[in-house]
Amino acid sequence: MSIATNIESLQTDLAPIGVTLVAVSKTKSNEEIMEAYEAGQRVFGENMVQEMVEKYEALPKDIAWHQIGHLQTNKVKYIAPFVSMIQSVDSIKVLKEIDKHAAKNHRVIDYLLQIHIADEESKFGFDHAELIEMLRSEDFQSLKHVRVRGLMGIATNTENEKVIKEEFYELKMLFDGVKASFFRREDSFDTLSMGMSSDYNLAIEKGANMIRLGSTIFGKRVVKHYKNND
Ligand SMILES: *Cc1c(COP(=O)(O)O)cnc(C)c1O
Repeated sequence: MSIATNIESLQTDLAPIGVTLVAVSKTKSNEEIMEAYEAGQRVFGENMVQEMVEKYEALPKDIAWHQIGHLQTNKVKYIAPFVSMIQSVDSIKVLKEIDKHAAKNHRVIDYLLQIHIADEESKFGFDHAELIEMLRSEDFQSLKHVRVRGLMGIATNTENEKVIKEEFYELKMLFDGVKASFFRREDSFDTLSMGMSSDYNLAIEKGANMIRLGSTIFGKRVVKHYKNND
């Protein structure tokens, strides 16, 4: 299967059910990205700031770039001028920095709050209590140049489907609860990003409306960037 055929068949399945496909292009070449682009794909995810900036500069400007990996505070300024969504906000500190650089660029930056759902120490993200505490804080409520669009999570890297399903279910419940308690009147709080190549069918079954696929589209990566303890 070619990259183009993969995009076309995924979009045929996902568009009717309202699930947004983020094509995770980390480590992939501009040529490979262009093949997906020519097939109609416009949303791409990267986890390294420098790589995203280089690709942004080289590739068509109607690509929506999503930051999907942990974002260091001192790197925010490089992507703030153009990033379409930051999926991996995992602290108030980085969120304040995003707000500051969004203001400098005269824009409002969309983001997701990353929630720690996996049974693994190494994954970033808020736990439930931290999330609620932050949502209630004045610091959070005073930010004017960022717009929260929803939640993101990464399930445990396991063959055990029961574990994965429980984690996705937990995140969906949290999403519904947070929406009802904090963002009832904000239609823009509408995105639940969960599911990668190995588990996206389970994620959709549990209510994801955004999935992030790398190897399903582009083939296996040589370097694994996102897991280190398995
Ligand atoms: C790499 C990565 C993906 C895509 O992984 P695949 O298994 O190749 O689909 C999705 N989400 C995040 C946060 C990633 O880092």
